[in-house]
Amino acid sequence: MIPTCNLHAHTTFCDGKNTAEEMVRGAIALGCTTLGLSGHSPLSFADWCMKDSDLDAYRQEIARLRKQYEGQIELLCGIEYDILSTCSTEGYDYIIGSVHHVVREGIYLPVDGSIKMVVEGVEQLFGNDYIAYARAYYEQMYDLCDRTKCDIVGHFDLLTKHNENDELFDTGDRRYRQTALEALDDLLEQDKILELNTGAISRGYRTTPYPAPFLLRYIAEKKGRVMINSDSHAADTILFAYAEAVEYAKSCGIRELTVYQNGGFDVIGI
Ligand SMILES: [Zn+2]
Ligand SMILES: [Zn+2]
Repeated sequence: MIPTCNLHAHTTFCDGKNTAEEMVRGAIALGCTTLGLSGHSPLSFADWCMKDSDLDAYRQEIARLRKQYEGQIELLCGIEYDILSTCSTEGYDYIIGSVHHVVREGIYLPVDGSIKMVVEGVEQLFGNDYIAYARAYYEQMYDLCDRTKCDIVGHFDLLTKHNENDELFDTGDRRYRQTALEALDDLLEQDKILELNTGAISRGYRTTPYPAPFLLRYIAEKKGRVMINSDSHAADTILFAYAEAVEYAKSCGIRELTVYQNGGFDVIGI
């Protein structure tokens, strides 16, 4: 069974291409039954986020659309809350907690920035040591749940955005795997929902979703909760590559997926 639910989507309130209403209409046209909008929480140093002054209007617009499209789609007001944000976590139907940067020497290096930015940043801030870079990234996962009050963990291994075929570093390295798995374990112990995120595929950076097979297999072993999300930034990619994501999940031993339906989180067999 292929889910028809997506809780990770961006609009023109942040860096999405389409308005909230266009996203809702796009979702309905694609057969999406539950759509959660998840604008980026404000960050003073980043221009791809919502501003503090946008948050009321964001929530009001989603409330308006929920009424207008009632009976056609289950619409939720979420937020993708960055671990470095400081705004309130109240007032949302659910929260995706995400790490987007490593911070060193007062410099914020976006791990999903351009490949040039990442390569130069790791060289300058970590002396080209990608294991140290990965440790600095995954170390933040231990604070993610407390800081963001998240229900869902966004794109767990986002730092591999430009490293699908180990172009930058060896994801088979035992030290890399240990660092990632320990952080994952901590999130699984807190029973967080882990995202199977197809966003980098729709934007042409990768051909496979996050997280990597060794991580997804580990989640399957531990019977962790997994939800497919598209991290969509446009109205035509709201359910992008879901069929492929289901096959990928199955190949890693996942037998059921978490979805949101009828007012709560639920599971479906695949
Ligand atoms: Zn994100
Ligand atoms: Zn996102």
